[in-house]
Amino acid sequence: MSDYRIHGATGEWEVVIGLEVHAQVVSNAKLFSGAATAFGAEPNSQVSLVDAAMPGMLPVLNGECVRQAVRTGMAINAQINAWSRFDRKNYFYPDLPQGYQISQLYHPIVGEGEIEIELEGGATAKVGVERIHLEQDAGKMLHDQHPSMSYVDLNRSGVALMEIVSKPDMRSPEEAGAYVRKLRSILRYVGSCDGNMEQGSMRADVNVSVRKPGQPFGTRTETKNVNSVRFIMAAIEYEANRQVEVLEDGGTIVQETRLFDPDKGETRSLRSKEEAHDYRYFPDPDLLPVELSDAFLAECRESLPELPDAKRARYQDGLGLSAYAANVLTAEVETARWFEQLLAATGEEHAQRAANWVTSDLFGALNRLGRTIEDSPVSAAQAAELLTLTADGTLSGSLAKQVFEIMLETGQDPGAIVEERGLKQTSDTGAIEAVIAGILAANPGQLEQYRGGKEQLFGFFVGQTMKAMQGKANPAVVNELLKKALG
Ligand code: ADP
Ligand code: MG
Repeated sequence: MSDYRIHGATGEWEVVIGLEVHAQVVSNAKLFSGAATAFGAEPNSQVSLVDAAMPGMLPVLNGECVRQAVRTGMAINAQINAWSRFDRKNYFYPDLPQGYQISQLYHPIVGEGEIEIELEGGATAKVGVERIHLEQDAGKMLHDQHPSMSYVDLNRSGVALMEIVSKPDMRSPEEAGAYVRKLRSILRYVGSCDGNMEQGSMRADVNVSVRKPGQPFGTRTETKNVNSVRFIMAAIEYEANRQVEVLEDGGTIVQETRLFDPDKGETRSLRSKEEAHDYRYFPDPDLLPVELSDAFLAECRESLPELPDAKRARYQDGLGLSAYAANVLTAEVETARWFEQLLAATGEEHAQRAANWVTSDLFGALNRLGRTIEDSPVSAAQAAELLTLTADGTLSGSLAKQVFEIMLETGQDPGAIVEERGLKQTSDTGAIEAVIAGILAANPGQLEQYRGGKEQLFGFFVGQTMKAMQGKANPAVVNELLKKALG
């Protein structure tokens, strides 16, 4: 796919990347208990007896989490396993009161799938997904609350995660970044994960190895819990270069777990890699295998919205939008939703103008205001009205820009602004001709030069006329009448 290479002393190296993304499942309750999952709650306020692992408590599988994992699998065209099972992964950690995590090693709910990523210059590539399994999250240690003690917050304990394991198909930091962005976009379209990386709803374990092109895969390291696209790309860059240096110095790469330090932009060793047998995985005896009925699977499939790839293709082929516009308008589900509300009001025949306006005027304004489209000060209905006023000739392009600025400031509807401030474009030939006559009389010097052959002065007369009419004259009419008057 990529021709990204690290140039070492001994020649060029290729980078091999596989990502394990943990995505928190959108659900009102945890994977095996009824406790709430809201972000930012008081420590230990969302902990049931099951989550605190009180003796004798039994897990009960939350059907909504199963449904979300299945819908996510379908969205990446993955194999859905109608029979799956939960396993215990045993290890000790103070934020894991059960002494084991319930996960799915041997029979994950979702098997192989595929994600198409968009690369610079319009190229696309496919990244394989090995599996998606459901598992519990752990709690969180708080080391900064007391000088000599550590506290534990179990709010996250038992929250449902999907672990989405890619194949080692990526070959550059850019591809890994594009993969995470695309995966996040799909999860948010499906509604199975909010994709909020700052809040920890999505984080990645980054597996990196290097090799000389054409050679077998090298030994990999795994950098844990990286929580932004930028950090994922930086961790890969650093880690690949580190490995090349080690290998070129005659060393070997040990398979180990590492941590990324965002302040230094470095990874550092945490512990040597554990193998599956170290965890003594075995089927959880408290839980029955999960069997999915055909009716359940059909319901999951029907509940899926139009997904980004299909939407992008429809915007290009059906609405006639450019590849660029189709891409930016479908990348985030909120943008597509807003754009489609706009189109519902203007009619699809205005799609190209609407797309131009959204990607330039609206995005420009939101950028300036530091806002997202969800809290745009101008609604899709108001934007539709503005576009309609432009299409029917009430507003010229420059008047529309003025009106839009006022809409941003006041929140008023464009029709009201046009009425109140008299911003209508005029095609009244009599009025325009009168203004032109005045301009020609007031600028005899320029008039003489123009008639003497200095045709660039035409623009000067257009400008003077528009200025005298406060930008409200129809530019096409002004051009036509000026040509007549000057000719
Ligand atoms: P484990 O079960 O030990 O975590 P897996 O084989 O499931 O190992 O792989 C975990 C992740 O590591 C996957 O995302 C996979 O794509 C990636 N991976 C496997 N081998 C390599 C390699 N040589 N270089 C980079 N990534 C790799
Ligand atoms: Mg792993």
